[in-house]
Amino acid sequence: MENIIQKALDTHTLEKNEIIALLEDNTQNDTLFKAADETRKKFVGDEIHLRGLIEFSNICKRGCKYCGLQCSNKEIERYRISLGEITEYAKNAANMGYKTIVLQSGEDDYYSVDKMCSIISEIKKLNVALTLSIGEKTKEEYKAYKEAGADRFLLRIETTDEVLYSKMHPNMDFKNRKKCLYNLKELGFETGTGSLVGLPGQNVESLADDILFFRELNADMIGIGPFIPHPNTPLKDVKQGDFTLALKVMAITRLLLPDINIPATTAMETIHPNGRIIALQAGANVIMPNVTEGEYRKKYEIYPNKNRADEDRAKCKSLIEDKIISIGRKVSSDFGFRKSI
Ligand code: SAH
Repeated sequence: MENIIQKALDTHTLEKNEIIALLEDNTQNDTLFKAADETRKKFVGDEIHLRGLIEFSNICKRGCKYCGLQCSNKEIERYRISLGEITEYAKNAANMGYKTIVLQSGEDDYYSVDKMCSIISEIKKLNVALTLSIGEKTKEEYKAYKEAGADRFLLRIETTDEVLYSKMHPNMDFKNRKKCLYNLKELGFETGTGSLVGLPGQNVESLADDILFFRELNADMIGIGPFIPHPNTPLKDVKQGDFTLALKVMAITRLLLPDINIPATTAMETIHPNGRIIALQAGANVIMPNVTEGEYRKKYEIYPNKNRADEDRAKCKSLIEDKIISIGRKVSSDFGFRKSI
């Protein structure tokens, strides 16, 4: 096992069977996390990038089985934030020092290309980098967002196991999701993807394939989070994803894509009281605090307790900054684009 970790440290490549071996073994986890931390330090340094997340609509036309926002969930109160309010929240976040704004939503067709482009160009006046996370769109639509000024796009592949993918995503097409990611890359977006760890029926082979897919795409950002069951979804009785396994998938991702940006995800913090800090010491270099204001954030419940971690915007930012300093790291003051090697 040590040999595999050493190989990953030296060459940043691993065969599928070696990744599987690392995921199955639990005797060398600390060595693995240390190796990922060392790689993070060597390639992206000690700075942590904070991205301010605005969840601007929880209306969604999709039916992803794991997600609390799926269209068949009649229990949640739906909302849409107006164009003016979205820009106002972005402005407030920029004033707090955020250098990146992330706009995330369900797949809500109310926000037409024109509306999105006008939000994008308003936010770009704030001298921030802008990330979108609004789901599958046509190449033409992605192109319009890029031309309006968007810099990055997040679209998780969720799982590369095609059979599992189709079970989890009724009426969606794995090939199209993959195509979207390649389109985004081609259009010059910094492209983020990632997986859920702990979906029912998922195995370590497919997690190894996920990691190899991230490399094949040459993703610029990877978000890994444990699956957390939501009571109003068909997966409500499924066991929650394993924190350590999610952390291991993230650590191996850092070893194989050493120079990318990797968030310590909110899902990790939600299932483990110190999840973010642990992740930051096992390969992660990004945190995405929620900067959505008012009543909205409680309603963006993709899984239970999602926004418990970031109750108050200002308090949350300074709390995170204190924690970052306490582990000997610093908050970055630049945009945090991928550093190319
Ligand atoms: N509509 C956008 C944003 C989706 S929400 C899109 O399609 O990209 C962002 C991420 O939350 C999803 O990609 C998924 O990986 C994660 N997520 C959804 N439900 C979850 C759950 N129950 N547990 C953990 N993560 C979940």
